[in-house]
Amino acid sequence: MVTREEVARALEQVKLPASGQTLTASGRLSDILVNGDKVMVAIAIDPTEAAAMEPVRAAAQSAIGGVPGVGQALVSLTADRPSGPATTGMRPPPSTQPHVAAGRPSQPPSPKAATIPGVRHVIAVASGKGGVGKSTTACNLALALAANGQRVGILDADIYGPSLPKLFGLHGKPRVVSGRTLAPLEGYGVKVMSIGFMVEEETPMIWRGPMVMSAITQMLREVAWGELDVLVVDMPPGTGDAQLTMAQATPLAGAVIVSTPQDLALIDARRGVAMFRKTEVPILGIVENMSYFIAPDTGNRYDIFGHGGARKEAARLGVPFLGEVPLDMALRERSDSGRPIVATDPSSPHSLVYREVARQVWASLSGTGDVTIKPPPAIVIE
Ligand code: ADP
Repeated sequence: MVTREEVARALEQVKLPASGQTLTASGRLSDILVNGDKVMVAIAIDPTEAAAMEPVRAAAQSAIGGVPGVGQALVSLTADRPSGPATTGMRPPPSTQPHVAAGRPSQPPSPKAATIPGVRHVIAVASGKGGVGKSTTACNLALALAANGQRVGILDADIYGPSLPKLFGLHGKPRVVSGRTLAPLEGYGVKVMSIGFMVEEETPMIWRGPMVMSAITQMLREVAWGELDVLVVDMPPGTGDAQLTMAQATPLAGAVIVSTPQDLALIDARRGVAMFRKTEVPILGIVENMSYFIAPDTGNRYDIFGHGGARKEAARLGVPFLGEVPLDMALRERSDSGRPIVATDPSSPHSLVYREVARQVWASLSGTGDVTIKPPPAIVIE
């Protein structure tokens, strides 16, 4: 088992060309993350130093690669630094719990992040809080876009709780195609990339803001996505600094917000809309998940979390309402066993809802329709 101390010792051999200082002494290193035989670390730089620091990054990566027991070393440069008094270096987080450090960038990122070659549209699926079905929606939306004829990829940016490997039933490790570039895995015709392919399931992950950004940037830009019409990004839940930074650093064509109908969830959803508006990312619409429940034995309908709140909220905010997905046992069982409903039961009423959501999203992206006037799908449970 590799230890952080061994990695730190190896990094003492790496010097900064300008000052001759060791990387370890420079205060630029993030905490060292060790997961089995994989080691990740980020080096904080000023954006103007990117080219000059690349040899340092490469030297650090090969130094770590030389530590006995290391199978994969991942060293990235990050121009994001934490705010506040600790800006002289990136200190380890105070606890070992999954943790997000303040990721507010020291200067506003450029208003438009660089596009990804071959990828026509990148869209975010986001929620104001966890547990509302954001990943389930992202997965089925990606599959529905593919079923509607688009070439689709999906990126798990929810690195605190990567769930796409499970949702797509994928377990392999991405193959290196050249240099640092990885090939995405493929599930039901959709290209999938997740940090979950690189680390063991159930491993608590400690990520600081800058490391989050470099992991996401690598998954966006150092993956052989090929030609895609849409790359769906499953965002981390919430609307904090890390999410805002990510929304700014990703070349987003639009965002889909997922909410349950409760008032509290809707307040969070509203924050999500505000966050994307702040970054000038168009809101493609709101999906109401767990909208209602039809008892399979009696056929009676129950509005467990209330119903229709998201539609009203969408109208109030002046954004499209994309559809209502009911709370459903089959949907949950299929999601949890890697058989997403749109791929494995394409004619189910839920799949048709997702197909309709996908149609509206694509109409909006491709500029072929006024999504705001389309009626939401009516679904019939037999
Ligand atoms: P989030 O990404 O917002 O944290 P997930 O997509 O992981 O949420 O969903 C949380 C749980 O709720 C999962 O077990 C998922 O299968 C379940 N779930 C999501 N949407 C539905 C739904 N419409 N009906 C039943 N279960 C759902």
